[in-house]
Parts: sequence; structure tokens; C-alpha cells
Amino acid sequence: MKLIDSHCHIDFDQFSPDRSEVLRRCLALDIDKIIVPGVIAKTWDHLLEVCQQSELLFPALGLHPMFMPHHRDNDPDLLIEYIDAYHPIAVGEIGLDFYVSSHDKLTQIALFEKQLKVAATFNLPIILHVRKAHDQVILLLRKYSIKGGIVHCFNGSEQQAKDYIKLGVLLGVGGAVSYSRATRLRNMFAKLPLSALVLETDAPDMPLQDQEGKRNSPEFIPHILDILVSLRPESASAIAQTTTANVRALLSI
Ligand SMILES: [Zn+2]
Repeated sequence: MKLIDSHCHIDFDQFSPDRSEVLRRCLALDIDKIIVPGVIAKTWDHLLEVCQQSELLFPALGLHPMFMPHHRDNDPDLLIEYIDAYHPIAVGEIGLDFYVSSHDKLTQIALFEKQLKVAATFNLPIILHVRKAHDQVILLLRKYSIKGGIVHCFNGSEQQAKDYIKLGVLLGVGGAVSYSRATRLRNMFAKLPLSALVLETDAPDMPLQDQEGKRNSPEFIPHILDILVSLRPESASAIAQTTTANVRALLSI
């Protein structure tokens, strides 16, 4: 019963002291693949280096909408050079974050569209970060021929989930479902087709309810699985197998 963490920032400094121990514990828990999305161009080299150190790790490269002040004008061109040179498995994480109202929406949209074009050119799937902007993202995905993707930590509506699924975009189930107050989200993940769901931690962020305030870790993927099992009619092994197969098929890993 192999499991995949479809979204984990294991390259972040929080894992510097014990990254190899964390990965060793992951293997013991049957977690055999971890997708590591990029956030800013400055840290891509480090991310790629970390991913080379373990066969569990698969890099994606992209410019994250929460880090707009860090992105330089030529970063999208650099993205093309890096994809050519290093062959990441996806473009990400990219998207729109309209949660923080002070963020400039138009600049985010321009950067997002540039990266969608890059993904379409290289026929790569995308890893999406979206807050308060699902409808805008869905409209833009329709405009470009994207080879599917994953919308990480999905927290939109059921209609938006269906729109993503139609576009070949899978929905990331993470720590947010562990919160008992997340009734709407839990009900939604109970009903959506299993063929559209993938597991993720977003570690070191998004800790589970019983870990609040602590560093999140890819080791908690089995807990996310347990929560999904408690919500759905399928068996644990069916949910593990299908969510793993969903990631493998999308990312060709
Ligand atoms: Zn992330």
C-alpha cells in the first residue's frame, strides 16, 4: 500500500536538521514518493539539489503567487531554461491568491498566464495554489491547453471541484480535513469521485488538528489517509491505491 505526498516543501529550512531521518521514516511508513513544488527562482537550485539526494523526491518548478515581491521580470524565462535543463515533473506551484487583499491581482494574473503558457509549451501538468480565486483560475485553465494538474489543499465549492475535474485537475486533500470544524470540506471530500483525489501534507505548513502549532511533516500522510477513510465508503486499501494511482498517472511517475 504505497502512499504519495503530492505536495511537500521538504526543501525548506525547517527540514535542514533532520531531512534524511524524516525521509527514512517516510519509507518505513510506505510513503515512496513526495512531490516538492518550487516557490521562488532563488531556491530552485537548492530544491533540485535536495531532490537529487533521495529517490523519494520529485521536483516541480514554478513561481508561487504568495511570493510576488521575490519574483523578477526574467523569472518566467529562467523557468523555461530550468525546465529544459532539469526536466521537473510539473510546473508549480503557480496560481492566484486573492486572500490577502493587498496583493496586486493583475500582476498575479500576468505571472500565472506566463507560467500556464510555459506548462502548455512543455506539455507539463501544473500544481496549483489557489485562494479566493477558483473561478478566475478555472477560466484561465480553459484558455490554455494544460495537461491536467493538482489544485493543492482544495477548499473551493462542489461546483468548482467539478469544473476542475472536467479540466483534468485533481484535488489535494490535506490537513484542513482533520479539523472537526471543517464540516463543509469534509462533506465534500466524502462525496467527490475518488478518481479525482490525491493526498498531501503541504509540510512544513498546514499541520493536522492534533499537531497544531508544530512542524507538519510528510510522515503524516497516513493520518490524512485515515481521515479520508473515516469519511468515505471505500476501504482504506482502495483509497490508498486510487489516490496513489491518480498522482502516478498525472505526473507519469
Ligand atoms: Zn505549497
